[in-house]
Amino acid sequence: MRCEVVAVGSELLLGQINDTNSSWIGSELAAVGVDSHFQTKVGDNLERMVAVFELALSRSDAVISTGGLGPTQDDITRDAIAAVMGVDLVTDEALVDKIESMWGLRGRQMPEINRLQARIPVGADAIPVQPGTAPGIVAAFEYEGAPKVIYAVPGVPWEMQEMMSEFILPDLVARSGSSDVIASRTLRTWGQSESGLAELLADEIERLDGADRSSGSVTLAFLASGIEGLKVRITAKAADRTRLAELLDDEERRVRSIIGPIVFGLDDQTMESVVLDLCTTQGLTLGTAESLTGGLIAERLTNTPGSSAAYRGSVISYATDVKTRVLGAPEGPSVSEEMVEAMALGVCETLGVDASVATTGVAGPDSWEGIPPGTVWIATCVDGEVESQMLRFRTDRMRTRQYTAITVLNALRQRLQSRAT
Ligand code: ATP
Repeated sequence: MRCEVVAVGSELLLGQINDTNSSWIGSELAAVGVDSHFQTKVGDNLERMVAVFELALSRSDAVISTGGLGPTQDDITRDAIAAVMGVDLVTDEALVDKIESMWGLRGRQMPEINRLQARIPVGADAIPVQPGTAPGIVAAFEYEGAPKVIYAVPGVPWEMQEMMSEFILPDLVARSGSSDVIASRTLRTWGQSESGLAELLADEIERLDGADRSSGSVTLAFLASGIEGLKVRITAKAADRTRLAELLDDEERRVRSIIGPIVFGLDDQTMESVVLDLCTTQGLTLGTAESLTGGLIAERLTNTPGSSAAYRGSVISYATDVKTRVLGAPEGPSVSEEMVEAMALGVCETLGVDASVATTGVAGPDSWEGIPPGTVWIATCVDGEVESQMLRFRTDRMRTRQYTAITVLNALRQRLQSRAT
């Protein structure tokens, strides 16, 4: 099986962005034993893109392209694939609904122009894994009498990486006729930078590089996932499913022994699903008192199926007098340890719950009563015992609020997990 990589985008040719996608894809292909002899960069021009795809298909079995899948006029990867296949593009209405609902989950309405992203060449399919709003394309067809496949993924690195790991690599290995099986497991982390994680796991990566691969191989990769922390992905390849499971279990144990405390979940788990599961198994009801986050935490929790088993509600105590009147907090500075602790305790009382999280802070961009933007207090309360902590973020308003939401949920997760052991 030979597979080429095509990076699409005039900005790559102009040196405005570095083509890190191709390097990443190259290393992943090597890790699963797929030969990759060519990588090409091409601008957003239909004729030249078609020429690049045709040349790639004439000498390889598969092509992976990144970029040019957006909704604007210069995003023409889908047109180029249709031209190479000799077919038209059709709008997949089910895919439009999926894209629309993904916008909805982000609290926004899909702009009409994004319907274009659901246009797929006749005979091709959308890649079933879709981490962002942009769908990828998989087109398997006969070209000059031989079976070929083109995979098109978005240029956005984390979307590309997730589609590669979850769909393209296993699909390529299956198509290669190899009887080997490949699977990955993702450890989700919160609280470390990418370089910090890389440093912690450097020895383990080196060990894997030098390991004997005769009875299967294992690789580790880091995937950034927007504001949701970093993922450490373990990919294993083996001759059968039993050995595959052994390799994944063994590597998960090794990785957890190094970064265990920052791992909050596996694969599809989210911070809030983990917190809700912990509350449910420990028989705890949960409430939230949100000032700075204004309902973001409640939104995350209620988005999780089955959340009503533990989650009872929120008090969005944005104004100071709501903090005092509804939550019984004392008069005093709104952004302080005393205030956040009073909010966490008060909401347990007001809503009659066993556990709570509370947030207050200065989202910015301006200072507030002399307190710099990005100053945040968070608290957790479990069975009447409160713990609080100050955080400082140096980012924009939205991210400050989003990071606060996930950080306070993480603090509660850590407390509940340590109770369980
Ligand atoms: P979108 O749907 O978000 O518009 P797209 O498939 O059209 O995605 P591009 O618009 O080409 O992709 O790129 C989106 C972003 O992804 C770029 O701003 C750039 O930062 C990054 N990107 C694109 N191509 C590459 C690449 N080859 N290597 C690294 N980053 C890339």
